[in-house]
Amino acid sequence: SAYQRNNPTVLPDKNRVKVISHFMESRLSESSSIREAYERAERLKTEYGADGVFDFSIGNPTAPCPAGVKQALAQTLELSGPEIHGYMQDSGYGEVRQTVASSLNARFGSAYTADHIVMTTGAACALNVLMRTVLDPGDEVVVFDPCYPAYSVFAETFRAHLVRIPFDQQTMLPDLVALERALTDKTKMVLVNTPHNPTGLVYPRETAEGIVEALNAQCAQTGQEIMLVSDEPYRELVYDDAENPWWPALYKNTAVVYSWSKAASVAGERIGYLAVSPEVPDAELVLRGARRSLGELGFVNAPATAQRIACACANDTIDISYYDRNRLALYNGLVACGLSPLRGNGAFYLLLPAPDGNEAQFVERLAGEQIIAVAGASFGCPGYVRLSYCVSLETIENSLPHFAAVARVYSETEGNRS
Ligand code: PLP
Repeated sequence: SAYQRNNPTVLPDKNRVKVISHFMESRLSESSSIREAYERAERLKTEYGADGVFDFSIGNPTAPCPAGVKQALAQTLELSGPEIHGYMQDSGYGEVRQTVASSLNARFGSAYTADHIVMTTGAACALNVLMRTVLDPGDEVVVFDPCYPAYSVFAETFRAHLVRIPFDQQTMLPDLVALERALTDKTKMVLVNTPHNPTGLVYPRETAEGIVEALNAQCAQTGQEIMLVSDEPYRELVYDDAENPWWPALYKNTAVVYSWSKAASVAGERIGYLAVSPEVPDAELVLRGARRSLGELGFVNAPATAQRIACACANDTIDISYYDRNRLALYNGLVACGLSPLRGNGAFYLLLPAPDGNEAQFVERLAGEQIIAVAGASFGCPGYVRLSYCVSLETIENSLPHFAAVARVYSETEGNRS
């Protein structure tokens, strides 16, 4: 019919109506190595069984939840009235925000009130809400390599420009001289993350002070306001008595982004917050903007039941020794294999350099032994792979002979060469 002729179901390619945006087309053309690693693990599991695959790919928490999670869920069942599942203030329940503020003030001597806290759908949401509030197109967002890959995508959404600071090859910590050189009058935001994904390091005090010094010098010279954003979903996951910096005490213009994903093993429940301290210039406006952004980005408010979980876990986290045991078992096991892992003291990640620097081949050789690791290039540290040790201790122990087999391939190649 004429209708069919005019409305063919499949258009020839060149006339094809474009449905997705250029932005999304370019996003889809980039692969996600974390996702790829995860999918590879799933494929290998069908071949070798779940116990035969050592999946160190994603940071999905495995430590048992703190008691507060079950208590909050049980209490929710006891509550009655439609309002318990309904919309609330955009920033979240007042008593939950007050509990968060009081907990922060007790631990860090800060002066938050409930109004300085905005409950969010995890840390990822808090970062987007804050970026939407603060950034204009063309503004520069400074991040430190290696880093969480989503930072660049989030900044791109708001057409901000990401400036990556290289790391010191010896320590894997930020190169502070490079930071000083990279700050410009367009720098609007500097993102820090400690305990750190993917190195598993806690920034030492000198590193934090060095970053703050560089920001203060730039602001004093130009009169601009640079916001420091501390993304700290691993705040409580600290080992060897390391002390994680509390950035708002070091630098006034600091916003804190937090999440219970890892601290309470509730990543799928999507709960976190944004804390804007009273010392942030125009804090009131930033908070108003964040609340507005929460609605306008479509989050509306953080999940009601998850806020109750957060409230019950404000001062109660997972048993850190669970991951510490894994950390030591994996680190010591890899060293015993003749590999050279970076010894971290936080989060639940470990970086392992490819023995010959060829990261892609290392990933393949590990996969040949059913070990799934994520290539470091996606974090900005090519030559390394990241292992997430939020797995069972048994998985780590069973994986070690397989790591040893891979290590032998390198020592034999080395032996043949010399
Ligand atoms: N920031 C970092 C450094 C992360 O590693 C993650 C998650 O892995 C997030 C933010 C996002 O956390 P959430 O699950 O709270 O959105």
